[in-house]
Amino acid sequence: MSDDLFLKIIAREIPADIVYEDDDVLAFRDVNPQAPLHVLVIPKTHIRTINDMQEHDAELFGKLFLAAKKIAEQQGVAEDGYRVVMNCNAAAGQTVFHVHLHLLGGRGFSWPPG
Ligand code: 5GP
Repeated sequence: MSDDLFLKIIAREIPADIVYEDDDVLAFRDVNPQAPLHVLVIPKTHIRTINDMQEHDAELFGKLFLAAKKIAEQQGVAEDGYRVVMNCNAAAGQTVFHVHLHLLGGRGFSWPPG
């Protein structure tokens, strides 16, 4: 947990461009954006991957999606559409082991994803 980069952002030990915060959730712009809007939505508690999710985390994960919805509205991409992605472990490309939703918008996205 001590090497959890996102806990350091929550603690304001590392700067971030924060776009949303409530009691349970923090959201900030990705340092290496893959779309005009690329925000990471994270729980304030340390959960490494989706595989570590417990039954009692269900409401918290729901709050990540509610925050993503609000941010999409605030940032003006809700109507056109946006993509929400959560990578789990190496095969999916997870590099930071504190669960996070990627909220991507401001351009079109193809399917299937790469
Ligand atoms: P993952 O690959 O784990 O799904 O996504 C991790 C994301 O965190 C990447 O998109 C990466 O650009 C972003 N990221 C890594 N370090 C930092 C940082 O220090 N600040 C911010 N804002 N984003 C970061």
